[in-house]
Amino acid sequence: MGKNPALLTFDEATTLFHEFGHALHGLLSNVRYRSMAGTSVPRDFVELPSQIMENWAADPEVLKTYAKHFKTKEAMPDSLIQKMEKAGTFDQGFATVEYLSAALLDMDYHAATKEISKDVNGFEKAARK
Ligand SMILES: [Zn+2]
Repeated sequence: MGKNPALLTFDEATTLFHEFGHALHGLLSNVRYRSMAGTSVPRDFVELPSQIMENWAADPEVLKTYAKHFKTKEAMPDSLIQKMEKAGTFDQGFATVEYLSAALLDMDYHAATKEISKDVNGFEKAARK
């Protein structure tokens, strides 16, 4: 254990919020069947509590409670919060196209009616068109 503070990046702080959401999900589960508790839920639900917690990491009011300068202890200034909000949407057009492209390719793989293993590159090229 060192003398210096952890100085988490925003990504790391967001991950901490995310994982804490999983922890809360487990800790607060109150169910009859263990198989339905905590993270032992269907995959389309397992990330819900963690995603909700993750979103709080970037909330301006919440940011001011934990994102403090490690020497002065001053809360993050509004101007920096606004810069972070703007940076959060940077390149989202490309990210969305990339995500949709992968999803559409995945659907094409599942819908394929003939052998594609011998020409995967050709299959992907045709799918992208
Ligand atoms: Zn997760």
